[in-house]
Amino acid sequence: MDSRPGLDLRVGHGHDTHRLTRGRSLILGGIAIEYERGLDGHSDADVLLHAITDAVFGAAGLGDIGQWFPDTDPQWAGADSGNLLTAAVAEVRKKNWKIVNLDCTISAEEPRLSPHRTAIRNRVAELLGIPPENVNVKAKTGEGVGPVGRKEAISADAVVLLVRD
Ligand code: MG
Repeated sequence: MDSRPGLDLRVGHGHDTHRLTRGRSLILGGIAIEYERGLDGHSDADVLLHAITDAVFGAAGLGDIGQWFPDTDPQWAGADSGNLLTAAVAEVRKKNWKIVNLDCTISAEEPRLSPHRTAIRNRVAELLGIPPENVNVKAKTGEGVGPVGRKEAISADAVVLLVRD
């Protein structure tokens, strides 16, 4: 165990689910992905960036994305979730926290995400202001069961580590 005085760490977790629907573009991790349906929601419904935003707020003890950007507020209708995440990052920086790394998992039966993994990793790293090496993106299917497996929804989980700057 590291016993350096002053090493102050915080871990945060985020989870989100959005329903898949026709007539919407699929935006995942800040990039547009070609698919027959997109995620339904008040903002651009980027389920991965929402999970990451919650992890960032959670690590700093700052509540959750719904408190900061209520989905009843017309200001966030159709919002680019990248802007919500960069706002969350700015808030934790104001509290003198620095992001160390992020690990995340996207759960989607379709489309295949492996061709997009590098683009998502690079975009998320850019939004967090950390090197891509400090971002890890995993993709899982729903094994044909549950809302993800039935292709009704996509889910995402994220874990973020902060260190006192
Ligand atoms: Mg959401």
